[in-house]
Amino acid sequence: MTFSPAIPPGTSVDNARLCEIFQCSPQGGMRRSTRTGTLVLVSNHVEAIYNDRWLGDVLHYTGMGLAGDQSLAFMQNKTLSESPSSDVDLHLFEVNTPRAYTYVGRVRLHASPYQEVQPDSDGVPRNVWVFPLRVVDGQVPVLPASEIDQQEAKAQKVARRLSDLEIREKATRGRSQPGQRQALGVRFERDAFVAENAKRRAKGLCELCGGEAPFSRADGDPYLETHHVVWLAQGGSDTVDNTVALCPNCHRKMHVLNLEADIATLRAKTKP
Ligand SMILES: [Zn+2]
Ligand SMILES: [Zn+2]
Repeated sequence: MTFSPAIPPGTSVDNARLCEIFQCSPQGGMRRSTRTGTLVLVSNHVEAIYNDRWLGDVLHYTGMGLAGDQSLAFMQNKTLSESPSSDVDLHLFEVNTPRAYTYVGRVRLHASPYQEVQPDSDGVPRNVWVFPLRVVDGQVPVLPASEIDQQEAKAQKVARRLSDLEIREKATRGRSQPGQRQALGVRFERDAFVAENAKRRAKGLCELCGGEAPFSRADGDPYLETHHVVWLAQGGSDTVDNTVALCPNCHRKMHVLNLEADIATLRAKTKP
């Protein structure tokens, strides 16, 4: 039995509309609806503590249960694990921005569920069940690369606040395979002559710290990186007066801190 939802894959709806379409409960990551014969699965990358991850068109989806070891016999974990031999219809939504549920499409259990260790809501390691779900009728949402970077930066910020012990525990119990998903990226085309002009002006010395390039290229040219004082991503121009040559350390520093004092130093270097 298959249910045809009123929205095509790729559509984002709010929770109320999702419930209206699928006639399901407004709560939880797994929502069974006997009225539409569906099990709606929500993969929430914003609020959830679960480590759901994509590998191609298969989502490794964490089961139900916030605390303690998860059980395959528990509620919708059971429905999902028995789905290959039942007539329940599986539909997947993904949340990447608060309150926006993007319909991925119809999925099916692609392989047997397996166990792994993930922290529970209190950060205590426990066994969870992971369900490999393949998209059979729909599409994996393609996120802007910047959004994936943001999710990663948020996780890194959380990690920096944990104790050494907590970090060691989580680092060694983590997933062994990295997730991978397609991303939408925008690349700026940089003017090679503008970049070379900055390097010539620098004469092998970093225009921020004044230090020598840390090494030379195979052809003997000192290795420096070009940087835009006003970042291209923020509307900066790819011109001589906005481009400087930096050692790799100072380049990182500008992207991590972007201090006003450093910006002023660089501006002075680009004055004609
Ligand atoms: Zn430097
Ligand atoms: Zn840069």
